[in-house]
Amino acid sequence: MVTQPARVIPKHTACLSAQDFWQYLTPARRWLDRNPLSAEQVWGARLQRPLWPTPTGRHALWYFLEQVDLPAGSQVLVAGYNFYVIVRLLVQKGLVPVFVDIDPETLCLDAADLARKVSERSRLVVVTHMFGNPANLAQIVAVCQQAGLLLFEDCAHAVGTLWQGRQVGQMGDGALFSFGVQKIVNSFGGGLLVLSEQWGEPPPPLSHQVSARHSFTDTFARFATSLFMDPRLYGWVLYPAMNWALALADRGWPQLQATIDPSKDNPDYRFVVDERAPFKPFMLRMQRRQLQRLDANIARRRAIAEQIKARLAPIDAVQGLNEDKHGRSNTSYFGLYVPNPDALARYLAQYGIQASPHEYYDCARLTQFQEYGGHCPHASQASDHILRLPNYPCLGEHEIEHIASTIERFFVGRRQPAPVSGKGG
Ligand SMILES: *Cc1c(COP(=O)(O)O)cnc(C)c1O
Repeated sequence: MVTQPARVIPKHTACLSAQDFWQYLTPARRWLDRNPLSAEQVWGARLQRPLWPTPTGRHALWYFLEQVDLPAGSQVLVAGYNFYVIVRLLVQKGLVPVFVDIDPETLCLDAADLARKVSERSRLVVVTHMFGNPANLAQIVAVCQQAGLLLFEDCAHAVGTLWQGRQVGQMGDGALFSFGVQKIVNSFGGGLLVLSEQWGEPPPPLSHQVSARHSFTDTFARFATSLFMDPRLYGWVLYPAMNWALALADRGWPQLQATIDPSKDNPDYRFVVDERAPFKPFMLRMQRRQLQRLDANIARRRAIAEQIKARLAPIDAVQGLNEDKHGRSNTSYFGLYVPNPDALARYLAQYGIQASPHEYYDCARLTQFQEYGGHCPHASQASDHILRLPNYPCLGEHEIEHIASTIERFFVGRRQPAPVSGKGG
């Protein structure tokens, strides 16, 4: 039936099935929610540490910061190439971010630059397993131990990312996971706080003052967004709706855009504990379902990334990452270095392929963090040149071929572009 490439191939979708959506919609939810799964039942096989479900991933970092209660003005070492929200939370807690450069091959914190930037006032290192690529934990842990620093792992991209054969998120004092609509495991929101035994007691404060109506709307918006991120619907519904929402956002509907395509640099963003729906029991049921097929999901993502990289290998202008440099990447984001990602993204959009030229920025260069400054050349390079491409498991062979051949054509043979509605290749 579906023989032509999808009109628009979204940059990301969690490839949820009707059964996954059903966990949220089912009329039996009231009954199921009375017998909820525990986080340990769902995550215990992967994470052998105390766990707390949270409303979002950022809540987990917030609770961690409350738990460890660093003195105001403490320095926190954090990668320049980062999700600005993480840095924003540190600043909101009265801490001072110190930007550390990244390893250009993994996009993660560079251990050598980390060692150089440790000072008397350093207290904490936040390491992100960026794009699901494992960071150099051996050396980062060594630096932390030597300097007496706490370590927090941002595993928002890293469900199924392995370091020395183990799920990342268990080497430091704490870790966060996120199950938002843009993540490899999507439960319409929700997060997970992992703490080392040392910090495990007493549990952090997890109370929320959210109205029932707000809680419903918040989760429902994420359900609807996820539904329309399905490639079969995306080109027809969400893509036009998003363009419409972007227009509306200018006229006072910023919340709509924030749900569909959150900003990667919003200087007005402030974390508010009660802004989001609380964690809900159905989220763990959705997570469990997706964990059951995680290995197949990751194997497929890695294969797609390899296939596209292999096709583009002869093109010198395109450079891949070394995702598995320090373990096994889940490749939940697939990035390539290209000379002009904006131009390539615009070209791909003409052929129905959504790619993201600024998935993350070098926070050391953002105006909102100007006062903390810092020079991170590799973070800047990633910020300026990384293009994120689709590589999720529900892409068909013809769509993968369409992505690879369209990029190829951008660089080598742009004389006779194929028509938009034509078959891939
Ligand atoms: C999504 C994300 C988070 C936080 O997730 P939320 O659930 O949206 O709060 C943290 N770090 C990174 C790198 C992320 O991509």
